[in-house]
Amino acid sequence: MSRSQNRLDELRSRLDEINLQLLNLMSKRGAVVKEIGEIKKKQGVQKFDPVREREMLEQLVQHNTGPFDDETIRHLFKQIFKASLELQQDDHKKTLLVSRKDHPQDTVVMVGDEPIGNHRKAVVAGPCSVESEEQVRKVAESLKRQGLRLLRGGAFKPRTSPYDFQGLGEEGLRILRRVADEFDLKVVSEIVNPADMELAVQYVDVIQIGARNMQNFELLKAAGSVRTPVFLKRGMSATVEELLFAAEYIVSRGNRQVILCERGIRTYEKWTRNTLDISAVPLLKQESHLPVFVDISHSTGRRDILLPVAKAALAAGADGIMVEVHPEPSVALSDAHQQIDIDQFETLIADLRGTGLLSESDPASVASSGR
Ligand code: PEP
Ligand code: MN
Repeated sequence: MSRSQNRLDELRSRLDEINLQLLNLMSKRGAVVKEIGEIKKKQGVQKFDPVREREMLEQLVQHNTGPFDDETIRHLFKQIFKASLELQQDDHKKTLLVSRKDHPQDTVVMVGDEPIGNHRKAVVAGPCSVESEEQVRKVAESLKRQGLRLLRGGAFKPRTSPYDFQGLGEEGLRILRRVADEFDLKVVSEIVNPADMELAVQYVDVIQIGARNMQNFELLKAAGSVRTPVFLKRGMSATVEELLFAAEYIVSRGNRQVILCERGIRTYEKWTRNTLDISAVPLLKQESHLPVFVDISHSTGRRDILLPVAKAALAAGADGIMVEVHPEPSVALSDAHQQIDIDQFETLIADLRGTGLLSESDPASVASSGR
């Protein structure tokens, strides 16, 4: 073997050694960073400290004797700092109460005696807005006929225009409660004001927090302070992570009964009202133990593709779907274009049951009519 080959082998083995030393130092650095992260968490201070990062970089550059230039040193250490910050954030994510890392088993939300998130898929259906007792009763009768238990209806409507129908308010909640009790159903209804939370829980079985309020933190805190289950919809511009943090606001206040709902996000697509982010379903199921629903009405804004969209949602692992149903959609005071009538609703449910994606009704629940 030539002398130069010998030298090369020797240098290579030195490099291998230095690599291991660097790795060892990086691991040591990582352990220190994690400890700092723990202390910062206890103190409730920000993990990222740009001033400290600049100081560290300056100190390194001052000690740089080459052969790497200062820019390269800055770049390399910035990568190390970034990875360290991610290490701290990962730790933080692990401790989220909504995370599967914290709680590996699926959470089953009990809406009275109705379990959500067990193996049976659920359907939440009803009008966009509560308009009259007669209107709600027609939908409730249909739910009952089909052995479905969850009745929705908006009493407080967060409308885009202040001139549009704003809902019947407390009277709407009273109607929902009366009709639901008549048919042994559960009420899901949106609350928009933290101050209404105490009032709401007297009427509703599930508090809905709408897309427009997903980051209304005072509302989330108020929903966390009651013990009524919460149906939390994803904001139209919110990431999956932001949805989980919104749920964390509720759960961290002591209300663990949260159902997540993907309801479509805003994209450039115009043929649907929103774009259903189907990947959010398996992602949420993977990241979190909370039940996940898909709102097939607001995500699409149209009736003609509801069946395949519902199938996709259930096949992707959703624990249930939400759909807007109105006895006479053409005269609905809100979302007239997307609501389906009773016949279309019953066909949709029959078709879904036909595929096996939605189980047959529980005969006991059909028989135990409140009437
Ligand atoms: C609703 O479900 O009534 C509603 C307003 O939906 P979103 O908040 O998803 O727009
Ligand atoms: Mn609607």
